[in-house]
This record gives sequence, structure tokens and C-alpha cells, in this order.
Amino acid sequence: MDRVAVRDVEDKPLSPCSREKAERLVAEGQAEWIGSDPPAIRLRRSIPLPRPAEPTAPALAGKRVLLHICCAPCATYTTQYLRGLGAEVIGHWYNPNIHPYAEHELRRETLAGYAAEIGLEVLWAPGYEMPAFLRAVVGREEQGVRCAICYRMRLERTAQAAAQHGMDAFTTTLLISPYQDLEQIQGIGDELAAAYGVTFYFENLRRGFAEHHRLARQHGLYRQRYCGCLYSEWESRDPNATTRRPARGG
Ligand code: SF4
Repeated sequence: MDRVAVRDVEDKPLSPCSREKAERLVAEGQAEWIGSDPPAIRLRRSIPLPRPAEPTAPALAGKRVLLHICCAPCATYTTQYLRGLGAEVIGHWYNPNIHPYAEHELRRETLAGYAAEIGLEVLWAPGYEMPAFLRAVVGREEQGVRCAICYRMRLERTAQAAAQHGMDAFTTTLLISPYQDLEQIQGIGDELAAAYGVTFYFENLRRGFAEHHRLARQHGLYRQRYCGCLYSEWESRDPNATTRRPARGG
């Protein structure tokens, strides 16, 4: 993934940002490049670390939440965390981006086994809408650009299902990943919440990323090496994949 590691002036690690944002910060004199492979910048100021997110936590107690699930490993910590807030969690599987079909099925079956193990009900969107995904991103295959389309497709289907089933809120396991653009996901989630009349629950869950690896290992879950679409598979193997974000600076 083309994300740039970020440190503050005291060398505290912060959330990674997009290359575009890193370049803007450097151009504005707010940061300097400290590495190119992997890419990293250091801000010229100190950033106080955010306080734990307890203000949003109680909002889910007793609520029915539809959780879009991208894969079983990402569902581990996320489900556990939301249940810990007192939510009744129901999973939702809709991932037409996953390529090829065998990989889609492997991830789906891994989730089915894990869901049975932890007593998680899952709503399974039928079929494999890969052609619709490819049609949606054609001509907009660049990393980041296509991801926004991908987020919207999956979250929209989840918002629809949440409204249909009378859920109180919907959210996504994508919020645990340091490789996904949380700002973009939050914007899309909020738009869909307004359109479908169901709250989008947003919280940065990246603090659970290490724990999700541990839980996935503990449960013997299949762990993929690329995000999902065929472009991400190419990018994971080829630094010259032309769908990567254009590398500038650094
Ligand atoms: S890299 Fe991941 S989020 Fe982006 S389009 Fe591919 S599957 Fe979707």
C-alpha cells in the first residue's frame, strides 16, 4: 500500500497518511522526508496523542449494529470490541472487489467458520458481483481513486441491508486497517447514513491492529497478502505496477 509513515518532531509515531498529503506537508514546510523506502516524513511540530475514544463508546450499548466484514481476521478484534461496548453485532458480507473468485470463496468460507465459532450471525449478500466492481472502477484504477469507489459500493450495500433489517447503526471492519483511508470511509459512511436513515458508527480502531493479528493466529484463520482487488494483488508483487499512486518526491 502506498501509505507514508508519519512521526512528529519528538519522533512519536502517528497515523500514516497518503503520499499526496505527505507531499503537501513537505511542500508547505510542515514536514521533511526521513525515508523513501518505506516512505516516511517527520513533522516539524509536536502532536499531542489523542485521548482514548470513550465519548463514542457508550453510544452503542443495547444497539443492533450491522458490521460490514472484509475478511475474518479483521472481524476478530472488531466484533470483540463492538460487543464489549454492549452492541448486538450482526455481520454483513459483500465484497465484490475480491479477486479472483477462488480468493473470494476462501475469505468467505474462512469467515463462515470463524462466525460459527464465535456465534456471530452473518447476512450474506448472494453471488459474486465482480463484473459490477470492475465496471465501476474502469478508467479510475489508480490506487486511492478506485478505493473510494470500492468503499462506497460495499458500504452502500451494508447501509441498505441495515435499513432493511431495522438496525440502529452500520459500520465496517475496514476501520481497523492502517492501509485504508479512514477519512474517506467516514465521509462516505456519513453520506450513506443520511441517505438511508441509519447511523454510521465511526471510530478509529487501528489500535487493535496488532491484536487482530494475534487473534487471527490464535484461531488459525487464513490471512491474505493483498487487500482484495486484482490491482492490489499486482501492486503487492510489483513495485512498478502502473495503478499505484504516482510516486513523487521522497
Ligand atoms: S486496494 Fe482494497 S480498498 Fe482499494 S480498490 Fe482494491 S480492494 Fe478496494
